[in-house]
Amino acid sequence: MDASALRNGLRKRCPLCGDGDVFVSYFTIRERCSSCDLRFEREHGYWLGAMIVAMALIIVAFAVVFLGGLALTWPDVPWTGLLIATAAINLLLPVLAYPWCMTVWMGLHHAVVTSDRDEGSQPRYDR
Ligand SMILES: [Zn+2]
Repeated sequence: MDASALRNGLRKRCPLCGDGDVFVSYFTIRERCSSCDLRFEREHGYWLGAMIVAMALIIVAFAVVFLGGLALTWPDVPWTGLLIATAAINLLLPVLAYPWCMTVWMGLHHAVVTSDRDEGSQPRYDR
């Protein structure tokens, strides 16, 4: 497992080289890395993994806020405030974390899959 790929993903960088501009704009990812020419979308449906990263992030954030809110205010829980806070997390976090979820997914995928492909006869990436 290549931990540097995951670190690069956490930093919103190319998983292979750690450099390069991954995004053209906030919601648009480049086809290839501007530094090492790595193709970012490896196959059709590749970004489903980024959706799983986003869902995991939202579930953890929701649980922390909801359970933390309950623990800090029990027994006089401000239910309306807690509802607004958790609804805001569920609505805003996917938008705010969108680029990060994509690069984290690329880092996770690259860290796990690339090491397997390096040992076999298949090409690492379509360059
Ligand atoms: Zn690169």
